[in-house]
Amino acid sequence: MERAKDNFEKEGKEIYKLIERLYPICRSITGDGVRETLDIIKKIIPIDIKEVPTGTKVFDWTVPREWNIKDAYIKNSKGEKIVDFKKTNLHVLNYSIPINKKMNLKELKQHLFTIPKHPDWIPYRTTYYKENWGFCLTHNQFKKLKEDTYHVVIDSTLEKGHLSYGELYLKGKNKDEVLISTYLCHPSLCNDNLSGVGLTVYVALLLKQMDLKYSYRFLFIPETIGSITWLSRNEDKIPNIKHGLVVTCVGDRGDLTYKKSRKGNAAIDIIVEKVLTDSGDKYRTIDFFPLGSDERQYSSPGFDLPVGSLMRSFYYDYPEYHTSADNLEFMSSKHLGDSLKKYIRVINIIEGNETYINLNPKCEPQLGKRGIYDMIGGEKTVDLTAAVLWILNLSDGNNSLLDISIRSKMNFEQIKNAADILISKKLIIPKDG
Ligand code: ZN
Repeated sequence: MERAKDNFEKEGKEIYKLIERLYPICRSITGDGVRETLDIIKKIIPIDIKEVPTGTKVFDWTVPREWNIKDAYIKNSKGEKIVDFKKTNLHVLNYSIPINKKMNLKELKQHLFTIPKHPDWIPYRTTYYKENWGFCLTHNQFKKLKEDTYHVVIDSTLEKGHLSYGELYLKGKNKDEVLISTYLCHPSLCNDNLSGVGLTVYVALLLKQMDLKYSYRFLFIPETIGSITWLSRNEDKIPNIKHGLVVTCVGDRGDLTYKKSRKGNAAIDIIVEKVLTDSGDKYRTIDFFPLGSDERQYSSPGFDLPVGSLMRSFYYDYPEYHTSADNLEFMSSKHLGDSLKKYIRVINIIEGNETYINLNPKCEPQLGKRGIYDMIGGEKTVDLTAAVLWILNLSDGNNSLLDISIRSKMNFEQIKNAADILISKKLIIPKDG
């Protein structure tokens, strides 16, 4: 897969454009906003759109009623809209029950949410599993509110319907699977998690053009209830999942962060860390903890899947998280492209890693007479010679190319390129034939 050498600037720009298109849509864990989003994704990659009825039991949970919203506002006694859903969908407490009522300021204030520390930002709040209604506004807006009679309208519905999600399965040579999961339940918020949605679409688009060793399953689900629903309906597929990643917060300008799987030393953990080390960029790793996104469900003890999460700024650390400041300006196409590059490199290792046997194990084979020095000529001769010697030495059936690249402190790609030369010269063969 030569793509790894590209800089993915073009794809970064395309992902950014896709995010711009998805940004205004009012999404939630169910409802037409999710469907509209899935329809747009389906025009780019051939996802199946699944609809799971309200009331379906999914382990200890139940698929909730479907939420849809047409309009919402607060009017003062002069009839002026002082908070208006049509300006930004973040103004409504997501999953608010319908209301049409006049009330005084004291009553209204019990249903208002602000961020005093960032008085220009609107918070993102939800009330999925508790019936409530409310509005989110800037603290500056809030401070201006005077004693008055306010007319509060939320034109929403909570009715029997469906939970919608998207799934794409790309079949590889073997049935072992890589799970790539992202969530699409957030309304007008960019880094968390339209960046994850956009990047996942483009990973799928690139993989669709390749001959794959592994099979890949892409999920576009509402967070928590979506992964619980998927797991409860697909228990038969769980044994096939060998590696997994939850894609979130990949568009901001921060350094990469990798949240390890529950196991902590699964192959995916080693692969991602190798990609980050090889990149030469600053990064950090954090150990698994049972908060965060859908890795919580994939990593519950009944499944304990090797699923990590590769992001840029860690979600709980950046102040814009879950606020109106997580907007288009907060992201950059360059960083989206860079995140895509890292994901593709992870897949390069998953696809390209193999354990080989040295067919000439008694002393080094004479490389010169086989023309190997000619093949590895050029500036990188020293590195490639080293890579060749590392592979020949460690290919005793116990070390994969990834192991060799880690032990030799060489880039996986260098080791892989050298292995390809040795395969062509019939000096090594795959352990598994
Ligand atoms: Zn979130």
